[in-house]
Amino acid sequence: MKFQELKTMDERLLYMSELAQRFLKRAAQIDEEAGFPFENISELKSSGYTSLTLPKKYGGEEISLYDLVKFQEYIARGDGATALSIGWHMGIIQDLGKKSTWKESMLQMLFEDVKKGALINNCASEQQTGSPTRGGKPTTTAVKKDNYWVITGRKTFTTMSPVLDYFNVSATAQETGEVAYFLIPRSTPGLHIEETWDSIAMRGTGSHDLVLNGVKVEEEYLVERVEPGNKRASGWLLHIPACYLGIAQAAQSSAIAFAQDYSPNSIQGSIIDLPYVKQKIGDMELELMRARYFLYAVAKQWDSSSEEERNQLKPELSAVKVAVTNAAIKVVDLSMRVVGAQSLSAKSPLQRYYRDVRAGLHNPPMDDMTILLLADNAINHNHPSKGWFAPRL
Ligand SMILES: Cc1cc2nc3c(=O)[nH]c(=O)nc-3n(C[C@H](O)[C@H](O)[C@H](O)COP(=O)(O)OP(=O)(O)OC[C@H]3O[C@@H](n4cnc5c(N)ncnc54)[C@H](O)[C@@H]3O)c2cc1C
Repeated sequence: MKFQELKTMDERLLYMSELAQRFLKRAAQIDEEAGFPFENISELKSSGYTSLTLPKKYGGEEISLYDLVKFQEYIARGDGATALSIGWHMGIIQDLGKKSTWKESMLQMLFEDVKKGALINNCASEQQTGSPTRGGKPTTTAVKKDNYWVITGRKTFTTMSPVLDYFNVSATAQETGEVAYFLIPRSTPGLHIEETWDSIAMRGTGSHDLVLNGVKVEEEYLVERVEPGNKRASGWLLHIPACYLGIAQAAQSSAIAFAQDYSPNSIQGSIIDLPYVKQKIGDMELELMRARYFLYAVAKQWDSSSEEERNQLKPELSAVKVAVTNAAIKVVDLSMRVVGAQSLSAKSPLQRYYRDVRAGLHNPPMDDMTILLLADNAINHNHPSKGWFAPRL
């Protein structure tokens, strides 16, 4: 069945939750073996999911950010690694459809391939620069030779590398020093994946190193120049908090199922009725509710805003990621306190959630940068020139 055949969001979410239940069954083994969720990605492709964010103009459905975030949360309830992996592709395609930075011919080529199931991710992180969000320049170089670019370097954290068809790679043009993105098809000679991913979190994301050894692409494969100081807001990055919210929801469900079932002989009934356990479940519910309302309110606001208004949403977009990710970490912690030592068993899904949810701290935007942004925002709003009644929302 294809998502495209289902017309209501309820029907689509039901279908996604069926897929997510299958992902959940496979999650432990993929995590244990640090494998890759090939089957999950293949099912997402054949369900038509991977083309849902394509613009209508190119024959797609152009789903809203709200719907995308909802789907992503559901996927993460089954498997966080699958959600984070496919989330990059879904978000990048949604973003490309909205911004007009790529040449029409390149967009058309990529979108036609996405309709057939092709997958893309951005490859921006490097050992030497760390997170690209901190402004470091890529050490990966692009050298112009006749009508070609020759690209050399190494990218770290290349999520979904086992199945990507396109690598959107940041590099510094050697001659001019400008930073740009180059679209590199998987089959390009000189490109290979080095299987370096040894993280204890999100083991199933296949975030290996991408090695580019004199990779040659035609001139037009320079798809986007990075303008210094460009402050364009990125709604699509909300797939990240959606992922960690989904993991937290799965942790709470797992803790409740355990508490309903666990009946030590020191008590009548199961531990679900103990006030201490109920308190923790209620605390989790409060965190989840707050996180969910915040995430979906910002997604809705994005969907109903003009391009100019969207650029004003940067503080909210950053704040929601930080708030939801930290809430998710807290929910997983509380879930483990409910379950007790059995949550640390290798057989418990909670130990996987515990490791996976930590990765959220190291996906963009980072906590410290967000708090500084919020401080500047608050100071700016409280400037004496704005008066006491400066409107905020
Ligand atoms: C599961 C997972 C999947 C990912 N997938 C992708 C992907 O698909 N594509 C991709 O490009 N990237 C990806 N990333 C990489 C991610 O976006 C970051 O680049 C990476 O996690 C490194 O971030 P960092 O903050 O630890 O690194 P660093 O920037 O090396 O920072 C390390 C520490 O140093 C400090 N620090 C460093 N620089 C500064 C500074 N200028 N100012 C203040 N403090 C500083 C901070 O305390 C920080 O915690 C992924 C990461 C994870 C965990």
